[in-house]
Amino acid sequence: MIEMKDVTKKYPNGVTALRGVDISIKPGEFVYVVGPSGAGKSTFIKLMYREEKPTSGQIVVNGVNLSTLKDKSVPLLRRQIGVVFQDFKLLPTLTVYENVAFAMEVIEESPSAIKKRVMEVLDLVGLKSKARMLPGELSGGEQQRVSIARSIVNQPKVVIADEPTGNLDPDTAWGIMDIFEKINAKGTTLVMATHNKEIVNTIRRRVLAIEDGRIVRDEQRGDYGYEI
Ligand code: ADP
Repeated sequence: MIEMKDVTKKYPNGVTALRGVDISIKPGEFVYVVGPSGAGKSTFIKLMYREEKPTSGQIVVNGVNLSTLKDKSVPLLRRQIGVVFQDFKLLPTLTVYENVAFAMEVIEESPSAIKKRVMEVLDLVGLKSKARMLPGELSGGEQQRVSIARSIVNQPKVVIADEPTGNLDPDTAWGIMDIFEKINAKGTTLVMATHNKEIVNTIRRRVLAIEDGRIVRDEQRGDYGYEI
């Protein structure tokens, strides 16, 4: 599903953010990526959806070799991967419904398929009744739910989340995790970078720890492992 072989990422400013990373994530896995600030977590996440390219090494996602993927094929890859960000990245002038529908419109789905599927995913995240609202009229947790709905609307095999609970209070964060668990239970692979020790230590899943650009720990049912 996701393979990295000897991946190194050096930014143009000379910082080496990842070095010699070898990992393999199977279909349906739920993987946390943990580590101190500046360790390389975001870089690791960005490489998976081709926001950044590796300096060397191989990355294969869903059978697509990202090293040889042409820039013009990147949108095609992105349709197979749902991405969720800490700051939601919703379009402020579009309603909840339109934000989610937009991801299907760009792939030219039929209006009836769009309507059915958008209402289905809004129902899954508990926001059907707020479909006509604008993002600015919602709480942070609700906005994150919209962004999760958007990430799964095209039924990707993989969802990648970078600090999805980073801007949310603890109760709201647990609600977001309920949704991620539901999505993962349906077979979607989930990779999530997080600083949320309580979540990692409670919902026990595979933990990849990164320090100074290297994978220093890879445990099934791992724990957070850092004092913060
Ligand atoms: P984390 O997500 O664990 O905080 P990052 O992947 O964001 O770590 O950063 C890893 C290292 O790479 C840091 O030293 C950071 O300053 C550097 N870095 C991240 N993005 C860039 C960039 N676009 N250009 C240059 N350096 C970067």
